[in-house]
Amino acid sequence: MVTDLPKPTLKVVLCSPRGFCAGVVRAIESVERALAIYGAPVYVRHEIVHNRYVVDSLRAKGAIFVEELSEVPDNKSPVIFSAHGVARAIPEEAAQRNLLTLDATCPLVTKVHREAEIHYRRQREIVLIGHAGHPEVVGTMGQLPLGSITLVESIQHAEKFIPRDENNLAYVTQTTLSVDDTAEIVEVLKRRFPNIVGPHKEDICYATTNRQEAVKRVAPVVDAMIVVGAPNSSNSQRLREVAQRAGCPRAVLMQRAADINWSDFDGVKRLGITAGASAPEVLVEEIMGAFAARFVLDIETVSAIEEGVFFPLPRPLREHEPAE
Ligand code: SF4
Repeated sequence: MVTDLPKPTLKVVLCSPRGFCAGVVRAIESVERALAIYGAPVYVRHEIVHNRYVVDSLRAKGAIFVEELSEVPDNKSPVIFSAHGVARAIPEEAAQRNLLTLDATCPLVTKVHREAEIHYRRQREIVLIGHAGHPEVVGTMGQLPLGSITLVESIQHAEKFIPRDENNLAYVTQTTLSVDDTAEIVEVLKRRFPNIVGPHKEDICYATTNRQEAVKRVAPVVDAMIVVGAPNSSNSQRLREVAQRAGCPRAVLMQRAADINWSDFDGVKRLGITAGASAPEVLVEEIMGAFAARFVLDIETVSAIEEGVFFPLPRPLREHEPAE
């Protein structure tokens, strides 16, 4: 219905930083570079990052996404491991089959794998704070023999956990957790087991921390917050929870403009927008475009911190980098 009524004004507060982190950029570029070097198809074990738009775009360029190595044929096509990391058994199986592998595991996830290995070598029992079933958790637990790592998902778990030897304990964490929830779990573990060892704070990555910090600043001053991201993206889900806890009455996770349920935004005068680390800026723009069709947007950006993190591509891909 065309109307001559003037569009109402909507204040939009953009959180910064938002969207792609250095690990996601590296993982996506790894697939693109592999396609350029080896030609299509290249196989990718698991969604390279948790975003359907990204996955569909790479699929259109020749990437084939699989969940297990058994789906990869014995030919010369490379297989890329996703940013979330993989259990040790996966590269071992690939080596046995002589598959060409490229590891796009985020270096900050690899760092957690190495921490867990060091604790294991020092014969410490390891607690992993994280969410069951998330591929990063599966990958981290799979670095060590079964039973070496106990997953703790909540404060209640931390209160009930019974170690073999409370004086020989260590903890590591998933990289994409809620900073505040994790701090509470660590506090319980430290209270119950004062000799537990772990990282200085936790292993939550810079990108997760910074995106949550920006949301905490914006959430109290808006009527609703959109988190652009996928339901299976851990850091996007955490942004939605952080917005709610920081006082935003309506925090909604959405992937595309087509997902907007306009009744959710009835009466909203100030709208916050952020995006999970795996959500491309083009989707933020698409959603803002949908709002711009109904409102005159008055846009402000609230910045928590400037980011300048960059991770080089996996070595085999770097060696093929075009000369400057
Ligand atoms: S969210 Fe953090 S750990 Fe995950 S890919 Fe990005 S930088 Fe790496």
